[in-house]
Amino acid sequence: MLDNAQIIETIDLGLIVLDRGMVVRGWNRWMEIHSGVSAQEIIGTVITDRYPNLGEPKYRRMLKSVLTFGSYAYFSQKLHQYLIPLENPHSTVEQMPYMQQSCSAAPLRDQQGMITGLFISVHDVTEYTIYENKLLEMTKIDSLTRLYNRSYLDKRLTEELERTHRFGNVFSVIMIDVDYFKRINDTRGHLCGDYTLRQLALILLQVVRSVDFVGRYGGEEFCCVLPETSAANACILAECLRKKIADEQFVYGQERFSITISLGVAEYGDGADTLERLVGLADAALYQAKREGRNRVVCAESSALPLFADDQESSVW
Ligand code: GH3
Ligand code: MG
Ligand code: MG
Repeated sequence: MLDNAQIIETIDLGLIVLDRGMVVRGWNRWMEIHSGVSAQEIIGTVITDRYPNLGEPKYRRMLKSVLTFGSYAYFSQKLHQYLIPLENPHSTVEQMPYMQQSCSAAPLRDQQGMITGLFISVHDVTEYTIYENKLLEMTKIDSLTRLYNRSYLDKRLTEELERTHRFGNVFSVIMIDVDYFKRINDTRGHLCGDYTLRQLALILLQVVRSVDFVGRYGGEEFCCVLPETSAANACILAECLRKKIADEQFVYGQERFSITISLGVAEYGDGADTLERLVGLADAALYQAKREGRNRVVCAESSALPLFADDQESSVW
C-alpha cells in the first residue's frame, strides 16, 4: 500500500498546500530544506506575508482561476524564472543566485467535489536553464573574440533594417578588415594571430557606444552596426577606431608590434535598403580603402561624405 505522506516528504519536488484564503496548510520537507523555513513555522500563515511576489496580479489571477474554475496553472521558468524566491542550491550560484523553477498549481477538492484549496508543485530547473543559456550563447557568440558571430550579426542587421525602414530613422554599418593579417600568422604564429583578434575585439568594444553592436563577420573581418547614426557620424567613429588601433602596441610574449585596419562605411538608404546591398556597399568602400593604400576609412558615396586617410585626424569623436 502506498504511504502518501512518505512520498510527499521524500519526493524531489517542492509541494505547498494553500487553502482558499492563501493560508499555508502543507509544506513538504523539500520546501523546508530549500527555503530554510520549517513547516511548523509557516503552516497557518498567509503565504504572501513571507513571499509577497505571489501577491502580484499575474500570479494572483492564475491562482484565483485555479480556485474558481478548478483549472490548472503552469508557471513556466521562461516567463517567471521562479515563483518562490529560493537560493540556488547548485554550484552555478554565481551565474544565477536564485533557483530557477517551473511550477504548477492544481485544485484540491473535498468529497463533495468543492474546491477547498490548491497545491503548488515547485520543480528545480536551474541546471537545465544554465545549459540552455550556454547553448543559446553559443549560437550567438564567436568563441575566439567573444563578439557576436556572423549569424547573429545578420539577424540583428535585418532587425535594424526593418526598424529603420518602419520608423524612417538612419543607421549605418562599418565593415573592418585587418591589413596584412596573414603576415602576423606567417611571421609570429597563429596563436599570436588569435591574440591579435581578441585584443582588436576588446578595443572595438571600448570605442563604440553601448547602443552599437559589434560582431565578427568572418576571419579577420568585423562589422559595427550603428543605430541612429548617419554615414557622416559613422565615418567619424570609424576614423576614431582606425587611429586607436594604429596607435595600440600589441604585446605577445616577447613580441611588440602594431597593426592597422581598413574600414568601409555605408548608410541605409536608397540603393542600400536590403542587407545584401548595404553590406555590399560597405564592402565596396572597404576594398576601395584597401586599394588606396590601407589604414584608412572610406565612406560609400564618398563624393558627399568625408574621406579620412592616415594623415588626416578627427577631433569630433
Ligand atoms: P589584406 O590587407 O588584403 O586584408 O591582407 P590580409 O593578409 O589581411 O588578408 P588575407 O585574406 O590574405 O588573410 C587573412 C588571414 O586571416 C588568412 C587567415 O589564415 C587568417 N585568419 C582568419 N581567421 C583566423 C583566426 O581565427 N585566427 C588566426 N590566427 N588567423 C585567422
Ligand atoms: Mg579579410
Ligand atoms: Mg585582411
